[in-house]
Amino acid sequence: MLVLIANLGSTSFKYRLYRMDQSGQEVLAKGGFERVSDYAAVIDEALANLQTEGVISSADEIDAVGFKTVLGKDLSGCVIADDICVKALEDFSAVAPAHNPPYANGIRQFAKSLPKARLVALFETAFYQWVPEERATYALPKSWRDIGIRRYGFHGASHKFVAERSAELLGRDDVALSTASLYQNGPAPISGKALRVVSCHLGGSSSVTGIYNGVAIGTSMGFSPQSGLPQNNRVGDLDSGALPYAMKTLGISLEEAERQLTKESGLQGVSGVSNDIRDIHAAIKEGNADAALALSSLIDSIRHWVGAFAWQMGGIDALVFTAGIGENDHAIRKAVCEGLEEFGLVFDQERNLACRAVEGELSSANSKAKIFVIPANEELVLAREVFRKLSHTKN
Ligand code: AMP
Repeated sequence: MLVLIANLGSTSFKYRLYRMDQSGQEVLAKGGFERVSDYAAVIDEALANLQTEGVISSADEIDAVGFKTVLGKDLSGCVIADDICVKALEDFSAVAPAHNPPYANGIRQFAKSLPKARLVALFETAFYQWVPEERATYALPKSWRDIGIRRYGFHGASHKFVAERSAELLGRDDVALSTASLYQNGPAPISGKALRVVSCHLGGSSSVTGIYNGVAIGTSMGFSPQSGLPQNNRVGDLDSGALPYAMKTLGISLEEAERQLTKESGLQGVSGVSNDIRDIHAAIKEGNADAALALSSLIDSIRHWVGAFAWQMGGIDALVFTAGIGENDHAIRKAVCEGLEEFGLVFDQERNLACRAVEGELSSANSKAKIFVIPANEELVLAREVFRKLSHTKN
C-alpha cells in the first residue's frame, strides 16, 4: 500500500511517501514547500514531482493519504477524512486557527487531486480518548462543557510513538502490540506487570503525557494547544482570572490579548530574547536574568507534570525525552532528572552528553527506572495508523 503523509501548516506543505505492508515500511520520497499561498498548486506540483522523479508512474498508484489533524468538534480517533471530518475541523477552527483551516482545505484539495485515494485523518487528540473523565473535565457549568470545553490533549502521534517504542526498548512486546492496535480495538488488558511511562515532547510546542500500559492517562495540554508548559510563543497554563484583569488594566481588546498570549508569550515573552531555547542559553551565558527565568520556568513546569503523572500511575518505569529540545538539549534533560534517585531514577551525565538527536539511554546501570531519548517520528505513526485503519476497513 502506498501511503502519502501530508503535513499541512498555515504556510507550508511537507509530504512523505511510504510503502507499507504487514512486515514494515519504506520511505520512498519526501519533500515540501514553504510560503505556500495556493495549496491546490503545490499539491499538484508534489504529485507531478513524484512522477518525474520516477517514484510512481501515475498519481493513481497512491492508495491513501494520511493527515495529522489537530482537533475536531465531537470527533476524534483515526477516521476516514470525509465531509464529516472536514466539518468537525471547521467547527473548531477558532480553537486551533493555525492548524484546522489548512487541514480542512488540504483534505478537500486532495479529494479533488487524488479522487481514487482513501483519505484518513488521525487526530492529535485520539491518543487521549481513554483519559478518565474526571481528569478530562474542567469544573465548569454544564453549558460550557456542552459546547465541547474539556481537556483534549495534543502531540498524540508523537506520544504514541514513544508509547510503542519505549515498550519495545523495555522488552514489553505485549504492551507495544496492544498500543499498536489502540485506534482499531481500544485498550487491551495487559496480563503482565503494569508499564508506566512519562513522555516529554519538548519542542517549539511542548507537552508531557502519562502513559499506562501504552494508553495515555493524562497530559499537560488541555482544551487548546495554548495550555500546559510554556511554549515557544504561547503562554501555556494561565489562570482564567488573568485575562479579564489584563484586558481591563492594560486597556486591550480580546483580540489583542489573544494575540499577545499566542505570539508574544511563552519562552519569547519571559526571556524577551527569542522563542528558541538555543538563543536563550546563549543569552544566559551573557548574564541575561530574564532568559534564565524563561529556562527555569520551563524546567519547573516539566518536572511538575512528570511528577503529577508518576504519582497518578503509582510510580514510573521510564521517562522519555523527544522532539527538538528533548532530543538535543542535554542541560534541560539533566535539570529535569536531577535529585530523583529516591524515585528510582539515576541519571548518567556521560550518557546524556553523548546522546544528541539519536535514540539512547540516559539512566545509569543501577537506575530502577529507565531514562530514554526517543527521536520523534510522527509521520511513521501516521503511516502505520492509515495502514492499520484501511486494513480493517472494507472499501
Ligand atoms: P520541534 O518543534 O520538535 O521541531 O523543536 C524545535 C525546537 O527545538 C527549537 O525551537 C529549538 O528550541 C529546539 N532545538 C532544535 N535543535 C536544537 C539543538 N541542537 N539544541 C537545543 N535545542 C534545539
